[in-house]
Amino acid sequence: MIAKVVVDVAVDKEFDYLIPDSLAAQVKLGSRVNLSFGSRTTQGYVVGFIHSSGHPKLKAIESVVGEKPYIDENLLKLARWMGDYYCAPVELAVQAVLPGAVRHQKAKFKEQLFVEATGLDSEKKIILNRSTQSSLGEYGFSAVGGDENPPSRSLRASVQNSLTPRQAAVMSALSQYPGGMFLHELIKQSGADSATVRVLEKKGLVRIGKQAALRDPFANQTILRTEPLSLMPEQAAALEMVKAAIEQASRQAAVGSGQAADSSVILLHGVTGSGKTEVYLQAIDYAFKQGMCAIVLVPEIALTPQTIERFRGRFGDTIAVLHSHLSEGERHDEWHRIHGGQARIVVGARSAVFAPVQNLGLIVVDEEHEHTYKQEEAPRYNARDVAVMRGHLAGCAVVLGSATPALESFRNAKMGKYRLVEMLHRVDHRAMPHMRIVDMRVEAERTGRVSVFSRDLVDAVRKRLDKAEQVILFLNRRGFASSLVCPKCGFVAKCNDCSVAQTYHRQDETLKCHICGSSQRVPDRCPGCQDPAFKFTGIGTQRVEIAVAKIFPGARIARMDADATRGKDSHRRILGEFKTGKIDILVGTQMIAKGLDFPNVTLIGVLNADLSLHMPDFRAGERTFQLLTQVAGRAGRGEIPGEVIVQTFTPFHQAIQAARRLDYDGFCDQENAFRQELGYPPFGHLVCIGIRGGDQTKVIRAAEEFSRMLSPLLPPQVVVNGPAPAPLEKAKGQFRHQIILKAPTTRAITGALRPAIRDFRWPAGVNVAVDVDAVSLM
Ligand code: ADP
Ligand code: ZN
Repeated sequence: MIAKVVVDVAVDKEFDYLIPDSLAAQVKLGSRVNLSFGSRTTQGYVVGFIHSSGHPKLKAIESVVGEKPYIDENLLKLARWMGDYYCAPVELAVQAVLPGAVRHQKAKFKEQLFVEATGLDSEKKIILNRSTQSSLGEYGFSAVGGDENPPSRSLRASVQNSLTPRQAAVMSALSQYPGGMFLHELIKQSGADSATVRVLEKKGLVRIGKQAALRDPFANQTILRTEPLSLMPEQAAALEMVKAAIEQASRQAAVGSGQAADSSVILLHGVTGSGKTEVYLQAIDYAFKQGMCAIVLVPEIALTPQTIERFRGRFGDTIAVLHSHLSEGERHDEWHRIHGGQARIVVGARSAVFAPVQNLGLIVVDEEHEHTYKQEEAPRYNARDVAVMRGHLAGCAVVLGSATPALESFRNAKMGKYRLVEMLHRVDHRAMPHMRIVDMRVEAERTGRVSVFSRDLVDAVRKRLDKAEQVILFLNRRGFASSLVCPKCGFVAKCNDCSVAQTYHRQDETLKCHICGSSQRVPDRCPGCQDPAFKFTGIGTQRVEIAVAKIFPGARIARMDADATRGKDSHRRILGEFKTGKIDILVGTQMIAKGLDFPNVTLIGVLNADLSLHMPDFRAGERTFQLLTQVAGRAGRGEIPGEVIVQTFTPFHQAIQAARRLDYDGFCDQENAFRQELGYPPFGHLVCIGIRGGDQTKVIRAAEEFSRMLSPLLPPQVVVNGPAPAPLEKAKGQFRHQIILKAPTTRAITGALRPAIRDFRWPAGVNVAVDVDAVSLM
């Protein structure tokens, strides 16, 4: 037998390797294997089998890593689909389904000494606090204080007499954990030392061995268990629909067809505060009780402690969490806990869509419209769309949830590809927040200058503070001011490597580039004309924080943005303080726009709605509508109705007006009319070819030559725009040009594009990136 292998170090190709007889039983589809490639030793994945190969002299696979294949058949299919659909090299697509921490095998299980009382062999082994065994209750909640079971009680009685007090303390502590416990835990709990435990080992009362200690990202956190809530009618209807889809999936799995119809994808359009999460929780519970597993994707930015607590509170330790703040070791352990079947519910950001769960019953994609689901490096996949594909391959239900579904998803629902479920009311019929638009042009005329706060907003904040209610002020830009501008000569401080203005950060008196992160000290005089009178225009979160402190001297203020949350736990700490009422006003970037649920927040101020509106991108309107709706959704989650004040210089823009009216359908209709006319998504697909390099002339020449070669190969329905400079013309020292292709289907584009990219002779120092269904055209 011969294996087709994707090799880690090779480019976009599969290679044939002989399977030696000695390994015949071990080499499976998805196995990780050691092999030699060229003159070096490396690893690869088995992606298929064939009986004969055209190659006369084949090398043999040297050995197999691990017992169970790392990638199962469906994941392998998914990876191949991904490589194909997103025009990515196959080995990158295969690698994307495994976290680096597992691939590199640098992180290993941490082994620690583990102590068990002897004579309890019939007991199942339980890894302290991290088990799914039924003895810890349905979802692996560990028993708390006083919960003793019969074997431990009898054990205690029989040994107690012949022991010293310290030895007895050890046995007593151990009796709380019939499955045994780690030595260091035992020492902590009993107050004895390891010598005492060793004596007990000699006496034959305990056994000491080694066991993998799973690094617990939740160590030292106690989570209160929550019970399912009784559902509102709209929630109940949505849940029924999801349950039916799960059932359909499990029936299909039983038949073994594995080919679910697309209708097992449900688009859950639920306004903010309609209780989508509770629907997810109960749907997961349902799948879980049928013996199935579930994956929940949330945007990285919404993977807040608050979100994780909601899932842990319901499902305890059967949950694995995958996100970017885990250490390599934690990620390695979480992945193996899923792969080994100990964790059956996975909550994570984008890449959790590849979690190695078996018997998948349900995938939830929360905030499915979020652009962070798109990976911005190869393979440039969108986790939402990959989830739909994985659901299709695994024959499971997929729920896409959002208060503002992407136009693409909404159209799929309207066309009958997805089923649409709507929840148009808030839980307990709480009022939707009332949104007021403040025209900053009028404000500027009245005061003769452009100010950060309108009088309306200041009055509204004051009223809320007087009533001891909380306020969120939202601004989509961190830093102090947008840029340094000289009023004399017009000089603007720009980054040398990126074509953007630098942002002033007052804390450390620097100018920072938000693209490449470089920073420099603020100059004493204008670098253009040497005048010392240059000034800063625009506003950032830092300046807002200072301005707020001036206007409301008594208020307790905190800021939450990428700068303020750099410390490991600061995110959690700030939210905790806000939740417990230690902060009156929270100033923040989009970091605070998602998923937060604070009942005492009654006012949200959006300081400049125009920031996202004037991005050079056809989705700017959609993004602004989504952002305003999400931000507004943070208000009025408690008993008191919420109020939202939006400051803008373009008050009549349809995205802003539709957000004010809470009119999703109206927004879609208008936006779709414009998209359809231009053949933009959701009425067509876009592929963006980015051509980059340090030498501008070379980049332009390559872009033009490639475009000339590609155009005649494309079918007539493909529209070619460019090559042209990207809106962000230079980033990190690289000049950026792009060609944008538009067609009714991606296939029409990629069919010809993929070989063209491969065959074109790209000059040294020029890189090409293909972005299928691009969400950012910057
Ligand atoms: P969404 O995700 O749709 O914005 P959430 O799931 O955050 O809404 O729910 C909003 C609030 O309502 C949460 O505090 C949640 O605990 C509560 N909630 C959800 N469903 C119910 C219910 N059936 N009964 C009572 N409270 C509920
Ligand atoms: Zn830069």
